[in-house]
Amino acid sequence: MRIVLFASRLPKQPVPPRPRCSLFHTNNTLVPPPATEDLFAANHLLNAHAKRGHMRLAHQAFAEMPHKNVVSWTILISAYARSGKLAESFRLFSQMLSYCWPNEFAYSSLLSVCDYPHGVQIHGFALRTGFDASIYVSNALMTMYWNSHSCTAGVDAWRVFDAMHLCNIVTYNSMIAGLGMHGQGDTAMKFFTIMLRDGMEFDRTTFLTLISSLCAIDGGSSKIVGLQRCMQLHSISVKAGFNDVGVATALIKVYSSLGQDIDACRKLFSGTSDMYRDILLWTATMTAFAEREPEQALSLFNQMRRQGLCPDCYVFSILLKACAGLVREINASAVHCQVVITGFADILEIGNALIHAYARSGLIDNAEQVFCEMPSRDVIAWNSMLKAYAVHGRAEEALALFNLMDVAPDETTFVAVLSSCSHGGKVNEGREIFNSMSEKYGIAAHLDHYACMVDMLGRSGHLSEAESVINKMALQPDYVIWSAFLGACRKHGETKLANLASSKLKELGPENSLGYVLTSNIYCLASSFDEGGSVRRKMDRVGVRKEPGLSWTEVGNQVYEFASGGRRHPQLKAIRGHMQELLRQLKEIGYVPYTSSVFFDVEEEHKEEQLYHHSEKLALVFSLMNYPRGRGNVIKIIKNIRICEDCHNFMRLASKLAEMTIVVRDANRFHHFKRGACSCNDHW
Ligand code: ZN
Ligand code: ZN
Repeated sequence: MRIVLFASRLPKQPVPPRPRCSLFHTNNTLVPPPATEDLFAANHLLNAHAKRGHMRLAHQAFAEMPHKNVVSWTILISAYARSGKLAESFRLFSQMLSYCWPNEFAYSSLLSVCDYPHGVQIHGFALRTGFDASIYVSNALMTMYWNSHSCTAGVDAWRVFDAMHLCNIVTYNSMIAGLGMHGQGDTAMKFFTIMLRDGMEFDRTTFLTLISSLCAIDGGSSKIVGLQRCMQLHSISVKAGFNDVGVATALIKVYSSLGQDIDACRKLFSGTSDMYRDILLWTATMTAFAEREPEQALSLFNQMRRQGLCPDCYVFSILLKACAGLVREINASAVHCQVVITGFADILEIGNALIHAYARSGLIDNAEQVFCEMPSRDVIAWNSMLKAYAVHGRAEEALALFNLMDVAPDETTFVAVLSSCSHGGKVNEGREIFNSMSEKYGIAAHLDHYACMVDMLGRSGHLSEAESVINKMALQPDYVIWSAFLGACRKHGETKLANLASSKLKELGPENSLGYVLTSNIYCLASSFDEGGSVRRKMDRVGVRKEPGLSWTEVGNQVYEFASGGRRHPQLKAIRGHMQELLRQLKEIGYVPYTSSVFFDVEEEHKEEQLYHHSEKLALVFSLMNYPRGRGNVIKIIKNIRICEDCHNFMRLASKLAEMTIVVRDANRFHHFKRGACSCNDHW
């Protein structure tokens, strides 16, 4: 169908004269007319060599042809273009002009390999020869512009599109793909609706490009809009009967990248037939589960292996990401074994993922070993190790490693080093590194760096310095910075500064609960319970919920989950009994409940009661009930939010009483409690 959108055609240039027809040899003897069958056979031979990628043979056959026509030239140009050789394709195209007139396929083949400057030349030539009117040439021009890295790529592609009198499905698909590629997912969707309105039918390629463009939502749109669009496209795919593995893979990728709908991924995966599942589908599904349901990702990996598919490097890095979120450290080691067996151990990305997985599983020594044995290290490897030291509170090691770096540090390096300083209480070193960032390395401080500085200064009681860092910032302080400042005010009981921080937090993100919780805590600390209560009531009114505390621990090869309050736990009665006994013993060695962590103005006794039901305490008591006490034994607990001050104190003394090491990984870092002290030196 003919479609004219937006603009008129570009004015035509006078067509240059056709190239001279070479009827004579150079010695002025007449060239005999070619036998059509011979030329046909010779082109076939040339095509056979070219299609197989035997370029030397193809070139030889081409050179030996006594007669060549436009097909012969086009075959050779296309073959060079397919192998990405721009210079050869371009040279052949210009040589061809002395013999015969290029056809639209020669143009489109050449354009498929052109960069922006060469593409513009071919565009100009097509305008002069009138070939810009060819749908093949226009489609190729559009794709060339979208693929180019020019800042005017979009404008040029739109100009070609607007000038087209005739469009086909390839035209629309190229435009949708280009818009998606340039981060204009919203416009791609609008374009799709224009396409439907114009009565153009879409195909599977349209659908796949459109789904991928959803990952590139325009700045103004939120992930929720992206998710709605994804659901709309999902329903269109069902109606259109696109239910193959490729479409399912694309939809799973978008659902998981939008981070919202894990159940949709589950349904899409189970809707595909076992025999058609390929490595791409398995990888996309594992990626979707890796962070939110890591056990499921591991189980998918086992299913994949049972189906006889061999994992690749990418699958292993996803798997290691999943291991980083699991309680059991044995998973990381098991995947490491598989990596070694399959020969991927020396791959840089795998090494980096291993460091991260081991560090998050609490096996910092294994992470160090992987780092030391890496055949080469990029900045990500150094950053992974620095981050590992940061979460384990090993500031000394982090600073030493930073001094050993043999690659240029980047922004992430400084976030890792500064957070190490913050967790390790190394204020002077932190200040020095922060100043050296711009002075020595020419890296401008970002919000994350400022957040680390504010956190570091705040924790160590330099509140006025932290405030002046915020005031002098070149950027607008964000939620994280004010939260860190508010946390520091809470720790040091500074209600006046806390008021300022909390009002800033409310301005920035009323939907986030942390600010309200911290403010409420500060009021409670200052014993102004009425105000503390009013903050909590306001939280309820505006629909803010405190994230429920959850802890996990492993006993006898099984992982147990504990929710704050523990009411649903089947062994609650036994746990409470053991808790009373443990509390009695702990109080004997100096445990005093830190009831300021409890919000409301309730009786002291009830406050204590609430404290004892924090999920990590329940997990610890349950572990002690089922695990022999004694030196050398380690209890590991993972907590989804930050450990509170009372639980920190509780764990510290429990490690002394039970003569055990207790390792707690909270939302921020690791705490290794041993003989009544914590690795964080109470700087968490
Ligand atoms: Zn607690
Ligand atoms: Zn600690």
